[in-house]
Amino acid sequence: MEHVKVFQGNQIGGCVTVISAMHEGKVRRIMIDYGSSLPGSDNEKDFEYPWAEMPVDAVFFTHYHGDHVGRIMEIPPEVPLYMGPVARQVMINIQEALGHNRNISKEERELHLKEAAVLKDDARVRTFRIEEKRCVPVKIPGFTIEPYTVDHSAYDAYMFLIEAEDPDREFGKYITVHTGDFRGHGRRGHRMIDVINVYIHRFNKRKVDALVIEGTMMSRPEEKVLTEPQMQLEATKYLMNHKYAFLVCSSTNVDSLASFYRAAQNTDFPCGRYMFVYSNYFLKQLKLYTKTAGHYSEVYKFKKIASLDSKQELMHEKWEKPKSQKEFMEDYGFLAVIKPEDYHEHYIDEFLKAYEEGRIDQKPVIIYSMWEGYLKPKKDNGEPNKAYNKAWDDFFKKQKAKGVEVKPLHTSGHATHEMLAKVINAIDPQDAIYPMHTEKADEFKMLGIKEELKKRIR
Ligand SMILES: [Zn+2]
Repeated sequence: MEHVKVFQGNQIGGCVTVISAMHEGKVRRIMIDYGSSLPGSDNEKDFEYPWAEMPVDAVFFTHYHGDHVGRIMEIPPEVPLYMGPVARQVMINIQEALGHNRNISKEERELHLKEAAVLKDDARVRTFRIEEKRCVPVKIPGFTIEPYTVDHSAYDAYMFLIEAEDPDREFGKYITVHTGDFRGHGRRGHRMIDVINVYIHRFNKRKVDALVIEGTMMSRPEEKVLTEPQMQLEATKYLMNHKYAFLVCSSTNVDSLASFYRAAQNTDFPCGRYMFVYSNYFLKQLKLYTKTAGHYSEVYKFKKIASLDSKQELMHEKWEKPKSQKEFMEDYGFLAVIKPEDYHEHYIDEFLKAYEEGRIDQKPVIIYSMWEGYLKPKKDNGEPNKAYNKAWDDFFKKQKAKGVEVKPLHTSGHATHEMLAKVINAIDPQDAIYPMHTEKADEFKMLGIKEELKKRIR
């Protein structure tokens, strides 16, 4: 039997994998990820999964990005959902924030609150448990699923090893590894090859049949990749010379937020610079990362954080009178996360005004820490770029026209060509390689992988 089927694997985002097993004479299936196509993908409409003809016993989510979880509400209500415990809470925070967002319609708000209720339902959602530093395998009829954490721009992201029963096979099972989205250049990425050797292969005692692997970076060969610590160093140098820094960065990119927060702490040693954020939702996420990721490493502890909109007066024994938060920001500098949207422009303008009125001696700057592709109307080959975000591009152009410097400083959440080759060689799948999350599946053959592996690319 064919054990692996990848839907929409030929685009970045919205890939769905279904794995089949033969259990007591019956076909059983599980699904990995059910997300939306990203804006700009070639498939105009998402495909419809045939839930009735090909029912699945469970859906496993690799991580909380919308292109992996976005269609969760379309999954039939009797199907259990498996995910990481922190990923679950991050998703609840997002849906609850949207559920109370006055900028969207009442109908949309209700949908988000419904999704939050599904995510909170313990009968429906099951989270991975860690015992003795590794995830406990999940057993369901026909399958054993072993989750392993991977490094990605989402925290609490997983790859899965799936043992699917198949009486026709030599050892009675077909083994697939699904990488999810991953990279080697974050703070935890260097461990992946060890995890493969020790846990996946059990020191050469277990072989893998199929590998489903992401290839986002295949279409971005020109992209320069910094490690997170390198980016932190760059940010530190930049913040040393720029006291009033705004930052555009995703609220769920825990590693990059940590890099910028650490940079802000190193900049004004020994006291550290405050990180302000644009909403209570954002504060809630930072507190969650501090409690969870921060439990394992100091790097993820966000302590000097506050809301940009706080009206609270601040007092210190050395000050003669209390300061408003704005006065505090003018005196001590800041790192402040905003969105590149017009309704956040006033934050920048306040400090431009303070500069013009001579209260501060530097103009504010903006660090842009998201994919550069969103700001490019055309691809490098001259074709129109469907992922181009004109509103953002206009926003930054407008700020530059006012004399505000925009500094791009970002690192990818995805594996480089070298890392992809390393992982493919290390997993050494005996039967098939399924590229997914990529527009350039053909180019997997150009990677530095063993010749016999090239023949297994589907
Ligand atoms: Zn992702």
